[in-house]
Amino acid sequence: MDVSLVSRVLWQRRVLRGRERWSGAELAAHQRREEARLREFAVTRSPFYRRFHEGLEHAPLGELPVLTKATLMDNFDQISTDPALRLAGLQAYLERPDAGPKFGSRYWVAATSGSSGRKAVIPSTAAEWSAVIASYGRASEWTGWPLGEIVTRLNALRPDVVVAYASMVRALAAEQAAGRLRISPRAVNSSSEVLTPEARMMAERAWQVPPFNVYAATETGGIAAECRYHHGMHLFEDLVIPEVVDDAYRPVPAGTPGTRLLVTVLASRTIPLIRYEMTDRLVLATGPNPCMLPFRLAGAVEGRTDDALVLPAARGGSIGIHPVVFHKVLDLLDAAGWQVRQEGTLLRLRCGYWPSTRYPPAPRASGRWSSPSRSLAGCRGMPAVIRVR
Ligand SMILES: [Zn+2]
Repeated sequence: MDVSLVSRVLWQRRVLRGRERWSGAELAAHQRREEARLREFAVTRSPFYRRFHEGLEHAPLGELPVLTKATLMDNFDQISTDPALRLAGLQAYLERPDAGPKFGSRYWVAATSGSSGRKAVIPSTAAEWSAVIASYGRASEWTGWPLGEIVTRLNALRPDVVVAYASMVRALAAEQAAGRLRISPRAVNSSSEVLTPEARMMAERAWQVPPFNVYAATETGGIAAECRYHHGMHLFEDLVIPEVVDDAYRPVPAGTPGTRLLVTVLASRTIPLIRYEMTDRLVLATGPNPCMLPFRLAGAVEGRTDDALVLPAARGGSIGIHPVVFHKVLDLLDAAGWQVRQEGTLLRLRCGYWPSTRYPPAPRASGRWSSPSRSLAGCRGMPAVIRVR
């Protein structure tokens, strides 16, 4: 256990708590100051950003070019503000089975799974890493209960707080309904995947508590979370500057879903992330903020634009089917998990079942089928292969 890191995180958490009482004007001033510091640091210390932002040093953030994951990984060595930090070295470190906790005794290294394309690698100094951990801590704290341990033997430990991927929340809810899991958590945190209304309903039925949605990414740390009033996710605007945009990177007004989210991570220095592109679909809430937090509200993340299936449309051309369409139906199945794969013009559905699962029938299940069939109605004769195992 790294004592100095723990004390840094505790200190950061105190700082973050103080910001939760800021006025809108205080938050805006903080964002302006931190954005200026980050941009100044990036063009001074990173050879890539010197060129990338050349002539735009005083332009508004929204006029700067977008940093995609591909650009980030293609130019990693030039983006890095530490000349000793090279991608090849980091990748070799990640592949070593006996690698210590830190790279070069200085950097904590986070790597994405590569599930949505290319793998991203982000090294962080103690200051940056503690900011990331504190951002996750904030999300847990907003549940109103201290962070519990995540363990496999939940029945033995009877946790107060469960923190899990949305699909795991759903699976645990089904286990609870089947009577095999007997826990009564006072808070359930769901992160990293789409928490659909159906999965939320299953969790509420299992534990009589609404799950808390948390939105975070490996590259950026925590981005948003629900407060205890569950009126949407508050963006961590003291830590990141989020921009909801469309496919052409044009800003999208509140109330309209964007197809991409650009994230500027204010504390990023080793690998400055300025307008970093995430292919997540997010919608900013309209109307006034109903609670005391100064942070804007966003609706649930509807999943990644990358994940949409592109099918031939009945009228020619193609039609994009968002995964949320499948969630609406397949989350109601009595299954441990499911997967829809597109194989050319074939859709293959795979379901996994636990032995002797009994799950109470979901209310209004039949009504919910209408939604995907409407969405899929525009598609030309799709032979659907369903294989159950
Ligand atoms: Zn709130």
